[in-house]
Amino acid sequence: MHSANDVLAHILNLLEKQITKVTIDTWFSDATAVALKQDCFIIRTTSPFKKQVIDSRYGDMVRAILQELFSADMGFMVLVGDELDSLDSLEEDEVPSDKDEEYYTFEDFVVGSSNRFAHAAALAVATNPAQTYNPLFIYGGSGLGKTHLIKAIAHTMRRDRPDFRVIYIKGDDFINELIKDLSNQKMEEFHNKYRMADLLLLDDIQFIAGKEQTQIEFFHTFNALYDANKQIVITSDRPPKELYSLHSRLQTRFEWGLLADIQPPDYETRIAIIKKKAERSNIEIPDNLIQYIANNVTANIRQLEGIVLRTKACRELLQEEITMDTINQAIRDILKENPGMKPTASIIISEVCKYYGVAPDLIKSSNRRKDVLLPRQVASYIMRQLTDLSLPEIGKELGGQHYSTIINSIDRITEKMKTDPLLENVVKDLISNISET
Ligand code: ADP
Ligand code: MG
Repeated sequence: MHSANDVLAHILNLLEKQITKVTIDTWFSDATAVALKQDCFIIRTTSPFKKQVIDSRYGDMVRAILQELFSADMGFMVLVGDELDSLDSLEEDEVPSDKDEEYYTFEDFVVGSSNRFAHAAALAVATNPAQTYNPLFIYGGSGLGKTHLIKAIAHTMRRDRPDFRVIYIKGDDFINELIKDLSNQKMEEFHNKYRMADLLLLDDIQFIAGKEQTQIEFFHTFNALYDANKQIVITSDRPPKELYSLHSRLQTRFEWGLLADIQPPDYETRIAIIKKKAERSNIEIPDNLIQYIANNVTANIRQLEGIVLRTKACRELLQEEITMDTINQAIRDILKENPGMKPTASIIISEVCKYYGVAPDLIKSSNRRKDVLLPRQVASYIMRQLTDLSLPEIGKELGGQHYSTIINSIDRITEKMKTDPLLENVVKDLISNISET
């Protein structure tokens, strides 16, 4: 079981992969852990300004880490000063290590016109695996329920067919596992593990597009399972034909099966989802306020859920009645957290380096080897596209390059992409992956 202190320490540790130690110290050095609740992690800091920065700049990163730690969407709350001193004595909930299995079920999935088809397809596959739709490829934007559906399939299968080998893996974990096993020469084990599955669920396949070795490996796994008449379910944020650097032979395979997209929910579905989430969290929200939320938050179900959780936290922790003000504050907090958040330079550099298999230190050095130069130029180009950094600032992020070098790099990539479709696809995929994170 985790204590709130452990969790904070763990989060700060993991943040170091994304932001510098100095930055972390600046904003988090006097943060203390307050409580770890079933669906919310609460910390306290010393000034409203720090709270605001932590919320707006690092809130999403922290939530992503919490999601990793607990395999569930958790709220994250920052208190200031002596706000809620009594909270320090708050009892901590037991946090089960994997809430998903009980949580992401078909019963808890609200069906509406935006997801009816994908839901029906998932249910058919869960009931009659490998008989109807194989593979099933579910795609749609972030926070619209892909992971929920694919886990509901796993849940149903584990319940109804306990002897079935169900393997659920996320695209980026598949890559990491492969890299680890490759270097340990444990490929045999890797093959066996995946090829023995009765049901293989690959969540967020977009991350393997462009990763050569991973795609080849997945292709073989896919064929082995498909030929043995085993069910495969894949999710992605885009349809196969828009996964630009995915091998066309994999694209073709995916199109053998059923493609099902999920659209953003319409008004009635949003209402039903808010009601379901409120009921699930044991909190009553008056109808007019539910309608108000549904009118104001339209794009993303994860955000709807975030608002319910935040409202619940206010209700419980602050002992507040739920009013229009509470809701407005919750909506503001949630929408502010992700107003199309700009990725940081270090996220961009790290994604580019991962793709090209070079060390970030090299890319920030003056090394002009071809295999270092290209990723450096690509990183310059993407930083220019996705951030507000000036040319000298980009230069600084890349180990102190002169801004004229950066201009040159950006021009080189812009020109090259016109004649090199492969590079164009790689850059497009990197940009979508980075914007997703
Ligand atoms: P994605 O994988 O598409 O990014 P998730 O499946 O993680 O999205 O969904 C985000 C959150 O919204 C999850 O907590 C999930 O339970 C919830 N959610 C999504 N769609 C629905 C739905 N139709 N009914 C109930 N909850 C949903
Ligand atoms: Mg998902």
